[in-house]
Amino acid sequence: MDRYVVIGNPVAHSLSPRIHAAFARATGEAIEYTRLLVPIGEFAPSARAFFDEGGAGANVTLPFKLDAYRFATRRSARADLAGAANFLASRGGAIFADNTDGAGLVADLTLNLGVTVRGGNVLLLGAGGAARGVLAPLLEAQPLRVVVANRTASRALELAERFAALGRIEGCGLDAIPRERFDLVINATSTSTHGERLALERAVFSSSTFAYDMAYGAAARPFLEQARGHGARASDGLGMLVEQAAESFALWRGKRPRTEAILAELRSENA
Ligand code: NDP
Repeated sequence: MDRYVVIGNPVAHSLSPRIHAAFARATGEAIEYTRLLVPIGEFAPSARAFFDEGGAGANVTLPFKLDAYRFATRRSARADLAGAANFLASRGGAIFADNTDGAGLVADLTLNLGVTVRGGNVLLLGAGGAARGVLAPLLEAQPLRVVVANRTASRALELAERFAALGRIEGCGLDAIPRERFDLVINATSTSTHGERLALERAVFSSSTFAYDMAYGAAARPFLEQARGHGARASDGLGMLVEQAAESFALWRGKRPRTEAILAELRSENA
């Protein structure tokens, strides 16, 4: 039976084993998928041991996405652009890295939530690993433009420069967000998971905005309440988690699982 793991620290909370078990049952694939807790600073030896012992693939979560990217011997174009990987696969002696976070976000927005990214004015809050991971697929969905706003403005400007070839993109500080209407506001900062409230200089939401927090469950609540308080529609990032897992499963197994059932099941527990 092919063996897969999700590598992280901490990793005990990860829903990935449950999601992949549901995909395996639904598609008739016989796989084993477990959690692998790796000490900080020991990603490479732990990943090497897993693959040397015949491991087929790994998802990688905080704080190892950069280590996973560096560990691989071959990389997808979207992993190269992100400079980070959440997906590893053993392929004919090579370790292949990819980044499925952005595809997961765009699938959740467009397929599950009915949000039109094409032609929209998009505000992406944050310029960390998650923001970098989603920018290429987001720009490929052809929004009118993407404004990246970050607490440390220089990191937002760097990202705007790095992704400029893919579409219209600008960077700024959180205190310099253009005063205009945004169709889609995505929170890719870690404020939600740290239980902090995002200090936005002024309201960026309106009744025609769709607000999306990459965090999910209770952690996302303050941002979603902030957005709904201005009449915006809003969603947490549970669907992104399930959709990036589906993209990973499809890359590993060559079969794309349906996501509705497991997403509904997790949603009812995390409501
Ligand atoms: P990083 O640590 O790489 O980046 C953190 C970002 O948050 C930076 O832009 C940082 O700004 C900003 N930030 C941190 N604290 C504050 C604050 N007090 N005020 C304003 N901005 C702040 O984290 P990631 O990018 O990896 O993760 C971001 C979020 O996305 C997490 O909640 C994570 O759980 C979620 N995520 C969800 C996924 C899903 O499948 N649903 C997948 C991947 C991530 P600065 O540069 O100034 O430090």
